Parts: sequence; structure tokens; C-alpha cells
Amino acid sequence: MKKNEIRSLISWVLIFFLIFLFFRGIRDMQAEKEILYSDFKTLLREGKVVEVKLKSDTISGKYKENSKLINFKTYRIPEDSKLVDELEYYNVKFTATADRGSWFWSVLLNFGPVILIFLLWYLWTKQLQSGGKQAMMFGKSRARLYTGKNKSDVTFKDVAGCDEVKEELQEIIDFLKDPKKFQRLGGKIPKGVLLYGPPGTGKTLLAKAVAGEAGVPFFSASGSEFVEMFVGVGASRVRDLFEQGRKYAPCLLFIDELDAVGRHRFAGIGGGHDEREQTLNQLLVELDGFDTTEGVILIGATNRPDVLDPALLRPGRFDRHIVVPVPDIKGREEILRVHTRKVKLADDVNLSIIAQRTPGFVGADLANLVNEAALLAARKNKDAVDMSDFDEAIEKVMAGPARKSRVISEREKKIIAYHEAGHALVAKLTPGCDPVHKISLIPRGPALGYTLQLPAEDKYIISKQELLNKISVLLGGRTAERIVFNDITTGAQNDLSKATEIATKMVTEYGMSEKIGPLTLRKREEEIFLGRDYLTREKMYSEATAKLIDEEIKSIIENCEKRVEGLLSENINKLHALAKRVIEKEVLEAQEIDEIIKTN
Ligand code: ADP
Ligand code: MG
Ligand code: ZN
Repeated sequence: MKKNEIRSLISWVLIFFLIFLFFRGIRDMQAEKEILYSDFKTLLREGKVVEVKLKSDTISGKYKENSKLINFKTYRIPEDSKLVDELEYYNVKFTATADRGSWFWSVLLNFGPVILIFLLWYLWTKQLQSGGKQAMMFGKSRARLYTGKNKSDVTFKDVAGCDEVKEELQEIIDFLKDPKKFQRLGGKIPKGVLLYGPPGTGKTLLAKAVAGEAGVPFFSASGSEFVEMFVGVGASRVRDLFEQGRKYAPCLLFIDELDAVGRHRFAGIGGGHDEREQTLNQLLVELDGFDTTEGVILIGATNRPDVLDPALLRPGRFDRHIVVPVPDIKGREEILRVHTRKVKLADDVNLSIIAQRTPGFVGADLANLVNEAALLAARKNKDAVDMSDFDEAIEKVMAGPARKSRVISEREKKIIAYHEAGHALVAKLTPGCDPVHKISLIPRGPALGYTLQLPAEDKYIISKQELLNKISVLLGGRTAERIVFNDITTGAQNDLSKATEIATKMVTEYGMSEKIGPLTLRKREEEIFLGRDYLTREKMYSEATAKLIDEEIKSIIENCEKRVEGLLSENINKLHALAKRVIEKEVLEAQEIDEIIKTN
């Protein structure tokens, strides 16, 4: 349910409640205190009773108490035949009334609210059923249309630090500007483009910029708008969105948070979600149903491409995938430049220093940072935002709850830099290792940084020495941390498990251990089938052999570690130089790495 639907539901409930209170109020105004007949007689004799209405079996009226009039009610006793005389004697105004009127009132007062609620409920559900035309347009897409005066005024100038992404999107802009030209040459344009990357990296912004650059109408919808309580609503909204798109072609349809509709079918608790499945199926049908010659291009954005249904990513659907990365130090500086365009900056503000201090920040964080700094300066009545405001704002944004997991402190950055430099240096100094292509401190997936090694050629067999080299490179990160900081961190866990796996395979599968000899002690995965094989596998070697295997694995790793430690200690200058440059630039390419290693 969307927010405004919830709001309308709440207001309905409020209306019911108010009506209920109103009726209760009326009833309370006439509420009568029920008293004993004997009390009534006492009040009468004390001269407190003011007026009385006699009905066939009740008496109601008013009596005075502490100069307040109180409504009372009691039951008539037929034996008391002198009542009328007494009333006359004490000078009480009295009359008799018929019972029928009051019966009607009491039914209305007691059941009125309930009847009203049913009436309104009936009307409301009627409205839902007739659908479409009334205020609640359930089956219509909620997509917002940006066109004409209202068109997207975001352009590529507003998006910084992702030039590769912009380049890829340029083709789509060219197509939208002049679809005919492309068709004439027989070029094939992707139907759907999927932008993915961590939250806040500017995916939504990029989609708007594409529309702004191309100057075409832009429909923007969010995946969550298609997921409704009522079955069938989502599917009809998808249909509606595409219908609209065709009407306005050439145009751009944008579905933000695609994972909300596009989640893998059957994933999640409780198996299939009927409504979402229907919506997703409709989306697939629509994607298949139109072709780009109509001039409609679909852009989807998500930060969870892993949960998307594979069917969505097949050719002919969202077939172009563009990663929107976390910005590097240069990108962050450019983004800061974009966001400080309209902010008055003091002379001491150096955006590249701010960029240096904000590893792990994405575009949204940086926009937030600039805003916080401006607010802080305003609070202090400054004329311009200066560096101290930015420093304070960095701390504030870093401490924010949502950012904690992503943002990296300066100390962590230093540790990661040495870790990656360690990997790279070992790889460089060990003959026969795959060349190092890149060191990066930009988080990618669960890894906080990475060292990219690419093999010089395709290999189908690997020698023992090469495997030992691989283990050494994996241990390089952790060893560098230990040498420099005299401590080790949890960051190397993945390296260690990979190293252990290689060593285990060397001993148990490849027969590369002298003590064990050329035996394969572990069956290959695909041969393990059902319990029978597990049983036979159990018996393949003795306890003593198991112990030997463990010792051999340990000795392989320890030998490698010793070698790595020697290597890094001898070349500690190179390590420091490399790490320093990594901290400064965050991304180092092969050429620079070579240079640093040569000159230090
Ligand atoms: P996403 O959709 O990837 O979660 P958004 O596009 O909603 O991120 O970004 C949120 C805000 O962060 C944008 O409105 C913009 O102000 C800022 N922002 C994000 N990335 C960039 C960028 N690359 N350049 C400039 N501003 C950015
Ligand atoms: Mg977004
Ligand atoms: Zn590592």
C-alpha cells in the first residue's frame, strides 16, 4: 500500500470515530441517572424534583441537587396510586408521554453509528470495485510523467564521477534524440538498461539525466508501487505504464528499485507471492511485446541485482547492464564540485582534501555532507562555509547510522592500503606470478579493497610452484599488516580460506606433498553421490593419514608465510612507498605500480 492510500484509510477510520463520538455525545447529553423508586419519593418529599414525565412503566424527569439539574429515571409502581396527588402537592410540573417516540430514538442512538459504518464501508468497497475513475485509481500506474514544461531538467552536468557510465548511456541518448537515424543503419539498440550499484551512487539521478539530455518525456515509477495488497493491481499498473510509454514515444520508462517487482520468483519466505509473481510476469510480457523501433527505452535501477529474477536479465529484456560504481577519490572531488556550485565557500576550502578524507562516501553521502557543512556554517552566522565546517560535517555523516557499514575511517584505509600493497608487492617480486593490473581501495562487494591480477595467457595446467606463488600472494596482505602494524585484522579471512583451500588440494588431490606421495585422497565433488559415497570416502584413509594431511597443509602455508615475511621485510621501503601512493590515489594502475617498485 502506498502512503497516500494508508493516509486515506486512516482518515476514513477517523471519520467513523468522530461520528461515533458525536452520537455518543448526544446520548450522553440525555443520559439519565437510574434511581430507586424510594429515592425518587424521598427527593419528591424534599421538594427537589422539578419536573416529571410519566410513561406507561417508567418515570423520568429532573431533580435539583446543589443547584444542578440532574436527569433521572426510575420505574413505575402501579400500586402507588397516589403519585399524581403527591406531584400536585409538591408543585412538580408533570406530563405523560407515549413510549413509541423514545423507542425510535434509542434504536437510532444505539445503532446509528454501526449502521453508518456499514453504509460508508459499502460505498467505499463499491468505489474500489468500479475502480479507475474515482479518486482511488488502483489499476493505473503511479508513474510520474516529466514532459513539456515539467520535463527533467537534470543533465549530465549534474552527475559527476562516473564518466564510463555516462559514455555507455550516451548511445541511448543519441537513439532517443533521433530513433530513425539508428534504424536506417540497422543498428540494434538495447531494449532495457539495468543500472546497478550500491545505494546513493546516483542511479536515479543518471536516469533523470538521460531523459534531460535527450529531451524526451520521462516516466518514472518505483518498483514498490507495483507491489500491492490486491492481486492483479500491480499487473494492470505495469500494462498501463507501457501503454502510456507507447503513446508518448520516443520516451524513456524508468523503473526504480526494480528488485521490488523483479525479485526471483519463489524466493523469499512462504514460497511464491502470487501478486508479485503476476506483476513480474506482466512485466516480462510487456518487455517482450514492444520493440525498440517504437522508440521506447526502459531503464531499471537496483542495488540488489543478485535477487533479480534471471528471466528479467535475458537478452531482449534488460540486456544491457551498467555498473554504477562507488566513486574514487577523483570522482568524489568532482561530485563535491557539483554540489558546492551554489554554496559560498571560504578560501581555505580544498575539495581535493575533503575527497581524500571521505573514502567510501557515495554521491548521496557527499551531497549530504555539503548540506550539513552549509547548515553548520549558517548556525554559526558565518559568511561562507570553511574547512572546519566540512571537518565537522564529515564526522557527523560518518557517525550516521546508515553509513557506518560503508564508510571507512582513515586508520582503516591505511590498514587496507598496506594489505593490498602487500599482495601486490609479493606478486611483483615473485617470479612467475600473474602480472598485477591494479590496486584499488574502492569497496567492491564484501571486499574493502582489491588487487587485480590477470594471467598473461590462458592456462590449463598449473605447476606446484605456481600454486605456492598463489598462496604467497594471498598471504602477502596479512603479512604486510603484521609487519607494519604489529597486529592482524579480520580483513584477511577470505585470503586465508582461499590459501588453505589451495594447500588442501595440493596435498589431497594433486599429490604434491612429499610425505603423502602421489595419492588422491579426496574424491572429486561430482563423484560424491548420496550416502553410499560418503561412507566409502570415510574409509579412504586412516586417522594417522588424516593427521599427516593436516600437518602437510600447515607446513605448506607456514613455509609460504616465512618466505613472504622475508620478502616484505627486505623490501619494506617499497611497501611503504606503494601503500603511501595507494592512500593518496586509491586506485593505482600497473604502470604506476611498476614505477614505484623500480624507484624505491
Ligand atoms: P541511487 O538511486 O543510486 O540510490 P540517487 O540517484 O537517488 O542514488 O542519489 C541521491 C542523491 O545523491 C542525488 O540526488 C544527488 O544529489 C546525489 N548524488 C548521487 N550520486 C551523484 C553523482 N554521481 N553526482 C552528483 N550527485 C550525486
Ligand atoms: Mg534511487
Ligand atoms: Zn587480501
